[in-house]
Amino acid sequence: MDEAIQFLLTLQNYDMRFNELEQNLKSIPQSVTDLKATIAQWEQKITQEKAQIQNIKLKIQKLEKEMSSAEEIITTCKCKLTFTRNPKESENLTKKVEDEQHKIMQMEELLLGKMFELEDKEAEFSTFQQTTQNEILKIKNEQKYQQQRTVDLEKNRTEVQNKIAAMRKILQENHAHWLHHYDRTKKTIHKMPCVVELRSGNVCGGCHLKLSSYNNQTINSNFPFIICESCARMIVIAGLYATHES
Ligand SMILES: [Zn+2]
Repeated sequence: MDEAIQFLLTLQNYDMRFNELEQNLKSIPQSVTDLKATIAQWEQKITQEKAQIQNIKLKIQKLEKEMSSAEEIITTCKCKLTFTRNPKESENLTKKVEDEQHKIMQMEELLLGKMFELEDKEAEFSTFQQTTQNEILKIKNEQKYQQQRTVDLEKNRTEVQNKIAAMRKILQENHAHWLHHYDRTKKTIHKMPCVVELRSGNVCGGCHLKLSSYNNQTINSNFPFIICESCARMIVIAGLYATHES
């Protein structure tokens, strides 16, 4: 009977280990998915920021081009002014020069604004990029770690599964009655373990309640456990067995 207890306790250890591995595995996929979403968000933000900077640069280029073509117009007009003798044409050319100069002034103001904007944006982006790159690196390492952990946990689970199968086979062949009882108890209880020890004062090691029918049950020497009337767990009375065996 000692053997049956040993086997059941071993099976119970494997079953609990298996539950623990299942729990750990369940917590992994979610965290990896979360990390992926975070990285994607940051990468998207970096792309957006880059596009905004590019946009400002293009506007600056456009302004510079417009300014230089206005300056060309002014140069051309001034050149024509030195040669013309026609007062009407002279007046038109002078007005054109003034218009273009006015445009240039407006564009200069715009350009200055854009340049400040670019400077701010680039400084902001540089900080952001550095922070996110560090974070992304951290997250990618975490991902790698979690992936490795998944592989390890799955490997452990398979090993424990094989051990459970082997132990169940032995129990099925030699102590089928107690295996059956173990399985039934496992379904009934809320939380493992289902095989527990008797605590001092005839207290169940599972639910911690005092047993009343303790003496009646243990009279039968073929009964390797007593069943707790409160939680239905199987209670091992180690001392009692040592006495019977000797
Ligand atoms: Zn109990």
